[in-house]
Amino acid sequence: MNKIRELSPLEWMIRTQVVDRGIDDAHVIEAMRQVPRDKFFKPGSTELAYADQAAPIGHGQTISQPYIVALMTHRLDLRPGLRVLEIGTGSGYQTAILARLAQEVWTVERLKPLLDEAFERLLDLGCRNVHFKFGDGSLGWAEHAPFDRILIGAGAPELPRNLLLTQLKEGGKAVLPIGPQEEQILTEVTRVGKELITKDVCACRFVKLIGEAGWSKDVSKE
Ligand code: SAH
Repeated sequence: MNKIRELSPLEWMIRTQVVDRGIDDAHVIEAMRQVPRDKFFKPGSTELAYADQAAPIGHGQTISQPYIVALMTHRLDLRPGLRVLEIGTGSGYQTAILARLAQEVWTVERLKPLLDEAFERLLDLGCRNVHFKFGDGSLGWAEHAPFDRILIGAGAPELPRNLLLTQLKEGGKAVLPIGPQEEQILTEVTRVGKELITKDVCACRFVKLIGEAGWSKDVSKE
């Protein structure tokens, strides 16, 4: 009998999409195990919850592919005690994973209905260490800066140098997609003094970061 077939959809997702693709970070895997991904989809449309793809969450936005969430979280190198800024809350799934691994998470979303839904979901899941803000996250969240880690879950046209130099701590890390709308490079950034050291991770495709340090607004998609 094939044991792998007996796994729950969540365990199947973790095994085939995360572990088998080389992410063996026990902290990330445990966090993914504790967050029920189907709760981040609208009731009645959960069929893509454990699928190997990004999926629509309304307003022209998407919940990231499970592998990409695992990869970004792994590259952020989180541990207890760290303060994290997330830009682009979306469904709140990535937020919930960050909240499991960091001390406190500040998350910013520019679409109010998505922020409200994410807020409710995280409340239901008992996440008490997340702060939510409605607005343009490409400007960060200056009142609570600097952060140990910054995760941007939407594609920036170029490296947001000013944001990272003003809101990321010395030695801090950021992970974000950078590049044109059709395809970006997932990029890991480390701040060393006034330098931002970048490392390409892989090609990826995210929705656009829309805002002052991102792309200009395209209302037709919302
Ligand atoms: N990681 C999220 C995916 C979010 S999709 C998840 O797993 O659900 C990217 C999100 O970034 C969208 O909800 C979009 O509205 C938001 N976004 C785009 N530009 C933004 C900005 N300047 N500030 C805040 N949120 C932004």
